[in-house]
Amino acid sequence: MFDVKKIREDFPILKQFVYNKPLVYLDNAATTQKPKSVIDDVVKYYLEENSNIHRGVHFLSQQATLAFENARTYIQKSINAANNYEIIFTRGTTESINLVASSFGKKFINKDDEIIISAMEHHANIVPWQMICEEREAILKVVPFNDKGELDLDAFERLITTKTKIVAITHVSNALGTINPIKDIIKTSHDNGIPVMIDGAQGIAHSKVDVQDLDCDFYCFSGHKMYAPMGIGVLYGKEKWLNAMPPYQGGGEMIQTVTFEKTTYNELPFKFEAGTPNVGAVIGLHSAMKYVENLGVENIAAYEDELLQYATAELQNIDGVKIIGTAAHKAAVISFNIDSIHPYDAGTIIDRFGVAVRTGHHCAQPVMDIFKIPGTIRASFSFYNTKEEIEPLIKAILKVKEMFN
Ligand code: PMP
Repeated sequence: MFDVKKIREDFPILKQFVYNKPLVYLDNAATTQKPKSVIDDVVKYYLEENSNIHRGVHFLSQQATLAFENARTYIQKSINAANNYEIIFTRGTTESINLVASSFGKKFINKDDEIIISAMEHHANIVPWQMICEEREAILKVVPFNDKGELDLDAFERLITTKTKIVAITHVSNALGTINPIKDIIKTSHDNGIPVMIDGAQGIAHSKVDVQDLDCDFYCFSGHKMYAPMGIGVLYGKEKWLNAMPPYQGGGEMIQTVTFEKTTYNELPFKFEAGTPNVGAVIGLHSAMKYVENLGVENIAAYEDELLQYATAELQNIDGVKIIGTAAHKAAVISFNIDSIHPYDAGTIIDRFGVAVRTGHHCAQPVMDIFKIPGTIRASFSFYNTKEEIEPLIKAILKVKEMFN
């Protein structure tokens, strides 16, 4: 079964002390730690295989190209995409969303058309859509959520019109922890002939994603939130959309022929991969996904849920702690405030207990505005966290209360 002690051995960074206290890393929604096997695979790549990919006829280039393309095929299988060329490598979720907003927008969004997002989106799934709305004179519509942080699906249906061109919704809210019913949202959208883009930044590391079963048109995610290096991410897109969309960036790799009169574009996936990619990080992402698969995503989800339930109960026991985001279906993210103490002040004290939490608006300012708060303290858990680690968090919260009240 799930041996957390053994798993923690794979993450040397977790062994350290900060301020003479054992590090308790509860900032996993911001970025996850990397297992040693991932770090080793990246180091091995740089020690033995580093070379630019594609086009190279020499041995190292072929090795690196093979490793890069093997990663693509592994990811395709892992998320059950129909074709490996539907996996586009990007810098991360932010770039994947910008790619969709820009390329889909230029092709399919015209004056007075409508785009639907939700009120719990990360800025990365708001701003690119606002930018394309401005460019194309389109309208952004926003699905509200209730006071638990659950999307209002009736309101969503009412927002759909014949002008709606795309729906872009997060799988899991990084600020509230809500797991959205994306399969239902996709079904409703498709019933109305509308494609759907899912922001999977917080979804994929904690649940099994099958893009064909979901039937989503696009799914975006970041490597660094799933135990891989920073600087790498994925855009999954259905072939029919990717083929119809214009390239996002121009440069090497994405072309077939270039003359000063006319350039023709490469086929998928290269059409969307201009320039030299982050090969080392792709190797790391492949390695991280294998690591997660070995543990079993279902085991991870069950264990993280156990931590969530335990930590929620413990926090609710403390007078003055208010949890923001109490949806029935939640990932292991707890946003909270302590009395009316500013989250930055609280976070500074909590840090002194060796506990790494995030404070602020979590790149979801509209969520904070809706709750009329400046921000929250957010503890987010991973499979390497333990129930024992909740104790220093609780102690730190009690200290915050003592100091500020
Ligand atoms: N969407 C969500 C829900 C996120 O949590 C994040 C990262 N906090 C992003 C998008 C952006 O991801 P990245 O910064 O890796 O591009």
